[in-house]
Amino acid sequence: MPASASWTIRKLFSLRPLVHPWITNVVGNGKSTFLWLDNWHPLGPLFARFGSRVVYNLGRNLLAKVDTIIAHHSWQWPRGRNAVTRDIRRATPATFVPHPSQEDTVIWNLTSDKKFSVQSAWNAIRRQHSKVSWFKIIWFKHHVPCWAIIQWLANLGRLATKDRLLKWGMAMHDQCVLCSASVETDEHLFFHCTFSSQLWKSLQKDLTFQCPFNGLPQIMDWMFQVNNGPQFSCSLSKVALAALIYHVWGARNGRIFKSFCLSVQQLEINVRTDIRACVSSWRGVKEVTP
Ligand SMILES: [Zn+2]
Repeated sequence: MPASASWTIRKLFSLRPLVHPWITNVVGNGKSTFLWLDNWHPLGPLFARFGSRVVYNLGRNLLAKVDTIIAHHSWQWPRGRNAVTRDIRRATPATFVPHPSQEDTVIWNLTSDKKFSVQSAWNAIRRQHSKVSWFKIIWFKHHVPCWAIIQWLANLGRLATKDRLLKWGMAMHDQCVLCSASVETDEHLFFHCTFSSQLWKSLQKDLTFQCPFNGLPQIMDWMFQVNNGPQFSCSLSKVALAALIYHVWGARNGRIFKSFCLSVQQLEINVRTDIRACVSSWRGVKEVTP
């Protein structure tokens, strides 16, 4: 790799050991497969296994192609008595032969049809956790993506609220910017703050559900238990919770970053208008009065 290669290129190249097992080069005539670098031999990439001595011992340059060791329909390994040559010869099955009449192909080992898919690559590299019960409260049929993302972050405790920023040494104080009366935590911001609590109660009253909790994890669990059906009322309560969190978080950010002070009344109008617009787009719904 050239010394001038960018950070991104270096990072991508550093992933080669991870990716090599997922990609197999099937040798036809060997003209487009790298002899030392690609994953075509049963031993895997030969350079990765033996290091630079494989290039030296077998007398080919680093960028040599596999066709340099193909003669007719068999392998023409360089003569030599060194250990590397012996190891490679021994690990080459008699049935593993080139097919000079065909082009080389590359196959993706993580899918049944051997074709690359982003999903298969993502599943291979991501850390998998067990499913949480509340995911259907956020990612349901009628969810609004931008609302769901903020609600998801809030539920994971990943929003940069003042109490967290202070712990990270990134805030001067931990006061809620909407009411200046309490520490800004998730629970305060969305359910206890004078700016949001009345609206949350009002939405519950209008939508005829009564949540006995004021903490987001407890609310999510409660909704999963009693409000997780396919019925219209269930979807409406889930949308209302997501809209509340999204708009309160937006109002809080507007006050911090844009010095834009939204009134409680305007917040309520915005939330209700957006819920109405959202629900009106659902097929078969004729009237909404949140
Ligand atoms: Zn507050």
